Amino acid sequence: MADSSAGIESLGDLRGKRVLVRSDLNVPLDGTTITDDGRIRASVPTITQLSDAGARVVVTAHLGRPKGAPDPAYSLEPVAGRLSELLGRPVAFATDTVGASASETVAGLQDGDVALLENVRFNDGETSKDDEVRGAFADQLAQLADAFVSDGFGVVHRKQASVYDVALRLPSAMGGLVAAEVDVLRRLTEEPERPYVVVLGGSKVSDKLGVIDNLIDKADKLLIGGGMVFTFLKAQGHEVGKSLLEADQLDTCNRYLSEAADRGVEIVLPTDVVVDTAFPSGDREPQPSVVPASEIPADALGLDIGPESAAAFAAALADARTVFWNGPMGVFETDAFAGGTRAVAQALTEIDGLSVVGGGDSAAAVRQLGFDEAAFGHISTGGGASLEFLEGKELPGIAVLERG
Ligand code: ADP
Ligand code: MG
Repeated sequence: MADSSAGIESLGDLRGKRVLVRSDLNVPLDGTTITDDGRIRASVPTITQLSDAGARVVVTAHLGRPKGAPDPAYSLEPVAGRLSELLGRPVAFATDTVGASASETVAGLQDGDVALLENVRFNDGETSKDDEVRGAFADQLAQLADAFVSDGFGVVHRKQASVYDVALRLPSAMGGLVAAEVDVLRRLTEEPERPYVVVLGGSKVSDKLGVIDNLIDKADKLLIGGGMVFTFLKAQGHEVGKSLLEADQLDTCNRYLSEAADRGVEIVLPTDVVVDTAFPSGDREPQPSVVPASEIPADALGLDIGPESAAAFAAALADARTVFWNGPMGVFETDAFAGGTRAVAQALTEIDGLSVVGGGDSAAAVRQLGFDEAAFGHISTGGGASLEFLEGKELPGIAVLERG
């Protein structure tokens, strides 16, 4: 728990009170089918806690990136159904966020009942850069409730109406999910137990620069895979064929390599790579082959770390006491290129210490590959938010709860 911020108990007796909860229910959908309900499940404990305390719970959340206006493709209605199943109680769905349906739905709640408002991003005030526009929308949200609980960790790095401005207008508290996230992330940045190993992958170096900057002098080892590794390999003078390459980041990668050497941080790069001649698509079966990382053919692209590297990464993780992992080691969405990600995930489940998985795709990978979430110390629900925290940035949605 953060020192200066208050949990739900600080809101006092909640019986009969309307409590607005900002949750992160931004799940992947295929049509109206939820393909990964991890975030909904993560939101359940706080909603249950409030409901059990007799509050009239009003959940607000976003889905996808609608353009500030209603768009049926981004309706939260399917999420209301799944949330209801997971809570084991009905969830009243309001077909707008602050309109007539929302007012009626909230007015109809009994103590302990739960409602979900339609996608908060159907309103252009939610993400407006204009403080007044955002504030006016936050006023409307605040009218639906007597108190506010911030529990959407995936959005606390956003200065948005339902995350930030509403907390200025109602008695506010941190939900258990946000509190747990903040607690774990502090353990990664303040006196981590050693050895401390950071594993980075995913698509781009440029997405992760701030994290590398902030963690390079905290970690003992930095293991790099995923799409970003090819810019590092190229920086070391290897040809990378058609692999993902950010030519404008070559100097940065070189700087990291020499900085790590100066600080005695061990950087581990793959020695072999799984390649194919085309990015996986539905058009043809994958044709994976394993090549040395120093000999990627000109017509091939690297789609996973190879088996020798996967074993080396697992060995480098074996004695770790603290691990932070962000970014899949390969294009895990296709089984032929999931081996490296699977090996790293497996190694994390076996360490004797704190293992943290951060990042939306990394968390989805762990679940898709069939791992038991309980085998990890912590799976962060907020990709961008955990990265910004680890970059050392102030998160507006946390700061607003912690202000004196
Ligand atoms: P996270 O959401 O966990 O922070 P990212 O968004 O950075 O992770 O990256 C996830 C994506 O990176 C996945 O969709 C995966 O397919 C892709 N990826 C991993 N390895 C490669 C690679 N070698 N080439 C291209 N894309 C890759
Ligand atoms: Mg991602």
